[in-house]
Amino acid sequence: MKVPPLDLKAQFATIREDVEKRFQEIFDTQHFILGPFTAQLEKEMAELCGVKHGIGVASGSDALLLSLMAAGIGEGDVVVTTPFSFFSTVSAITRLDAKPYFVDIDPRTCNLSSETLGSISDENVKAILPVHLYGQLAEMEDICLWAEVRDVAVIEDAAQAIGASRNARMAGSWGTAAAFSFYPTKNLGAAGDAGMVITDDDEINDRIRCLRDHGAKERYYHDEVGVNSRMDAFQAAVLLSKLPHLNEWNEKRKEISDRYRAELADLPLETPYELIGNDHIYHQFVIRTERRDELKAHMDKEGIYTAIFYPVPLHLQKCFAFLGYKEGDFPIAEKAAKEVLALPVFPEIGEERLSMVVDAVRGFFK
Ligand SMILES: *Cc1c(COP(=O)(O)O)cnc(C)c1O
Repeated sequence: MKVPPLDLKAQFATIREDVEKRFQEIFDTQHFILGPFTAQLEKEMAELCGVKHGIGVASGSDALLLSLMAAGIGEGDVVVTTPFSFFSTVSAITRLDAKPYFVDIDPRTCNLSSETLGSISDENVKAILPVHLYGQLAEMEDICLWAEVRDVAVIEDAAQAIGASRNARMAGSWGTAAAFSFYPTKNLGAAGDAGMVITDDDEINDRIRCLRDHGAKERYYHDEVGVNSRMDAFQAAVLLSKLPHLNEWNEKRKEISDRYRAELADLPLETPYELIGNDHIYHQFVIRTERRDELKAHMDKEGIYTAIFYPVPLHLQKCFAFLGYKEGDFPIAEKAAKEVLALPVFPEIGEERLSMVVDAVRGFFK
């Protein structure tokens, strides 16, 4: 492939020595689960986001699940969320026998639209789960105000938005708790699965620390049924080596995005819309066109990676058929699913590969 989705080998070359030093320390101490590196990463993540606590867990999906558990979400509770996200935004809800209540998205940003929140009258609503899709925050002022009035929890799915902010307030610092993913393709990627919850709430912090370790505060004494979801030391070590570079990598993604925006401006396609006040970190650079499938086939032929996030809105997933939603229920999300296409936007792309992407897109519309 001429332009891949990422160049993790080039990225790793810049941190190899640092990672190897930490790995040596782990082998020397044989401390594999949680340990001092995880504790340090928890502290640094909390600092980065301007909150009190970070809790290292096994994945972003678990971070969502544990956040909802700690907020007391359970059977019969209703959680308001978006139909246009990665699968685990919603599976975290259904796994607890709670019910997702979808609201359609803002066509400009593809984030949950705060406009329709006022019409929700379900009195079992216990939480709202906005997603900061592609790396820009949802309209958190409106969402948090709505939640405060109703006294419901706000759980942010910040998996794609590490380091992003809105009106100078960091992703993950708005809600009751927030979930981050360190899946290797995320802006801050581990060498395997890993995730983190951050929160300002002491009780939620205590509860998740307990829940991630089978619900035991003291080993073999279980207050409740938790899960096995602890970050391992190797993941924390890699992430500690990468974290000091995150800002520089995010800045690079913004530069690449500015270039795409300028060089594709005259074409019949939509480039990403940035909401005023948002500092978008471009986890994905997503364009829109009604000729998406043709364009994708053209890019495939040119050897350039593109991807569709996401081809099937969550209310139309087979496994959620039991929720009773049907095609036409969320027309804006359904339309987005047919039109979105992500272009490669990794920090190491370089001038030559960037030009190849631009030329290929321009070639298609010529
Ligand atoms: C990646 C992602 C997750 C899940 O994270 P994992 O670490 O892969 O479990 C959840 N929500 C969104 C929006 C994501 O992009």
